[in-house]
Amino acid sequence: MPLPMKNEKILLLEDSSLLASTLKREIEHRAVYEVHIAQNFGQAKQMLQQQQGYTLALLDLTLPDATQEEIVTFFRKAAIPSVVMTNHFDEAQREYVFSQGVIDFILKDGPTSLEYLFALLDRLHRNRRVKILLVDDSRASRDYMKRVLEKHNFQVLDTASGLEALDTLASDGEISLVVADYHMPGMDGYELTQRIRQQWSKARLGILGISSHGANVLSARFLKVGANDFLSKPFLEEEFTCRITLNVENLERIQALEQTAIRDFLTGLYNRRYLWETGAQLFAKRRDGKQRLCAAILDVDFFKKVNDTYGHDAGDVVLKAMGGILSAAIRSPDIVARIGGEEFCVLLVNRSQTEIQATFEKLRVTIQEAVIFHNDQPIPITASIGISTQVTSGLDALLNQADAALYVAKHTGRNRVVFHEPEPV
Ligand code: GH3
Ligand code: MG
Ligand code: MG
Repeated sequence: MPLPMKNEKILLLEDSSLLASTLKREIEHRAVYEVHIAQNFGQAKQMLQQQQGYTLALLDLTLPDATQEEIVTFFRKAAIPSVVMTNHFDEAQREYVFSQGVIDFILKDGPTSLEYLFALLDRLHRNRRVKILLVDDSRASRDYMKRVLEKHNFQVLDTASGLEALDTLASDGEISLVVADYHMPGMDGYELTQRIRQQWSKARLGILGISSHGANVLSARFLKVGANDFLSKPFLEEEFTCRITLNVENLERIQALEQTAIRDFLTGLYNRRYLWETGAQLFAKRRDGKQRLCAAILDVDFFKKVNDTYGHDAGDVVLKAMGGILSAAIRSPDIVARIGGEEFCVLLVNRSQTEIQATFEKLRVTIQEAVIFHNDQPIPITASIGISTQVTSGLDALLNQADAALYVAKHTGRNRVVFHEPEPV
């Protein structure tokens, strides 16, 4: 995979040049960030005058030329979110920096704290794509949580009632986590959680319940009805963000596993299993008369020769290129899957015979004209395509017909598109 673009700049203020260069190297190695080092406060100020666009500052607070207040205040006024690194834990200092809007406070006490820092930087970058919905009737409480989450780069929506929350969820398909207060007039957090669970699973949409002070029983109620987690008031800012992060990471892990289960490892296309599960649903809709369904099987011609001539690695490169061509051409609700070595299946929904013919003829030509290189050597390929648009008793029968048409394509010259013809009666 190509490295992601380094599109975020960090200003690292650290007077130990050894630590600074280690951090720069490690951060740039792992994440999308580009790190610029300032060895003292004066230099940091100069750098900010010369360069704009820092998305984050990483601050050592023990410097020879400034107090911690000067440093923290300066970056707050410059509106650059900062993470503070310190040599020893000091509760007053911790409270002070959080009150100044600092994102996080990291104790430089060994390799684990560096791992924490790298994970935090990675999260801050990925959080930009994570949408969270806050549901709380208290405006002050919503504003507080929103400020904290936005500091961590999350996209945040907020609503004052359960009903509004359900509307928002229905209209915005991208929300991954709901933070719901328990006590709300009208619909409380318990009922909201119940209603959400009628539509969205725990793996698809996380719920973090917020229970009121001292009400442990509410936490249990939240969990029993389908919340992923809960937090009791009052909570520390760090507790809140750690809990949010934990839940977001759990959801991402489950979704990654789900993807692994339905994707082909080599090409990234859907696998056979997904084709059968989703294809069966599409087939059922066709049987209801609600939509038409067309199945095609594509098979690379003389693929064994590609392996024999250029090597197995080259064969893999060809299969990946096929994956790229097919996924660029086929869009949801249509499905494209890799169903065997060099065999692919496409299901098209509600397309006329002319459109189907045009789609696959275009695909055939795209494959024939594709320029696929391995070790600077071009590998020419073609594919044969068998299609069925007939009404059949099941998905397997439809695929068998497409396969029979593919057989005809293979035996009448290859690099061809062939439709299955119904038997004459
Ligand atoms: P035809 O035109 O009749 O389809 O001939 P063909 O050579 O394409 O078909 P055949 O079924 O004889 O050979 C398919 C080859 O695909 C055999 C197998 O070794 C190879 N193959 C299957 N899976 C993979 C894979 O993941 N990577 C590579 N490189 N080769 C694979
Ligand atoms: Mg083949
Ligand atoms: Mg084959």
